[in-house]
Amino acid sequence: MNRIAVLGSTGSIGTSCLEVIAAHPSEMVLAGVSANSSWELLGRQATSFSPRYAVLCDTSLEGHVETSAFGKHTELLFGEAGIEKLVTDDETDVVVTGIVGAAGLRGTWAALESGKRVAVANKETLVVAGPLVMDLARTHQAEVIPVDSEHSAVFQAMQAGRSQEIRRVVLTSSGGPFRGATADQLAEVTPETALAHPTWQMGPKITIDSATMMNKALEVIEAKWLFGLDVDQIEVAVHPQSIVHSMVEFVDGSVIAQLSPPDMKLPIQYALTYPDRVPSPTGSIDFNIPFSLDFEPPDLDAFPALGLGFEVAALGGTAGAVLNAANEVAVERFLDGRLGFDDIPRLCQDVLHNHDFDPSPELGDLLDQDRRARAEARRW
Ligand code: MG
Repeated sequence: MNRIAVLGSTGSIGTSCLEVIAAHPSEMVLAGVSANSSWELLGRQATSFSPRYAVLCDTSLEGHVETSAFGKHTELLFGEAGIEKLVTDDETDVVVTGIVGAAGLRGTWAALESGKRVAVANKETLVVAGPLVMDLARTHQAEVIPVDSEHSAVFQAMQAGRSQEIRRVVLTSSGGPFRGATADQLAEVTPETALAHPTWQMGPKITIDSATMMNKALEVIEAKWLFGLDVDQIEVAVHPQSIVHSMVEFVDGSVIAQLSPPDMKLPIQYALTYPDRVPSPTGSIDFNIPFSLDFEPPDLDAFPALGLGFEVAALGGTAGAVLNAANEVAVERFLDGRLGFDDIPRLCQDVLHNHDFDPSPELGDLLDQDRRARAEARRW
């Protein structure tokens, strides 16, 4: 039995993860769930799955929520101490980190320290602290398995050869809702138009990141650390159908791609069952209906955020933490109507280029740079 803790269980990745667990009752069991403040949904998840723990990260809710909403079998915990208890518990085997933003770092850290498999659905963790996270995993012999669809595809395709035989990795991108738009058209984008993504149903932060292509920028950085690649081994191809989730080219010129319908339940399930494959609730591609797969190079002039991703992946050090923090604030300000769509990459570039770069920071330095970058981004 695979005992799974889901951090961020009320979000888009979290609810998909619970569907995967529910589809495999003889192989998987939910060990715990966590949410920031959505206690009613968390309570419903606890009563239907009876996990050992449910954690509310927002400690101000302590004493204000009805503990009876969590059922008889689930202990309700609060804050970072609760997250640590859940992820380090002897009866937790796998931790899925579905918390959005830099907030996902602490749970990931504690899980790796106790040698758990971490299914990383929170790309910010690797963007902010990639080298430290991968070092920690090596030290504690903990596995880091990607859940992001592109990285899962790369991880799957990589099994066709040895790591020293990899020439390059090609991350695919749907291009977002504004594929083909000019810089002038992008200046007019509002939160409403940006929140309508053509292929994936996701939370608001990642939907905006997808529209600016900052999501792909963060994925370039994530891929670099996760797979130990050089920046010049990473490319991005725009692929509007979102059927090919990414590709790996080996030294002989063979390109291995992973294809499936766009459904996050498949990469989530693979991270839970790896190295095994089991039937999935996801549908399959119908080759009896004609369809085409298109690929085109990304437009770096219209989507400068993507260029920032390559720049940050090359820099390393504190650059990832600063880009990520600046972007989180920029997205909030855009969604509140206080920043233009094309100001998002401008703000990020300014905060990145003006920060006090440190090539080999400790975790405390990264958290400090994160705070400073947020303050700068609010002032911008
Ligand atoms: Mg992705």
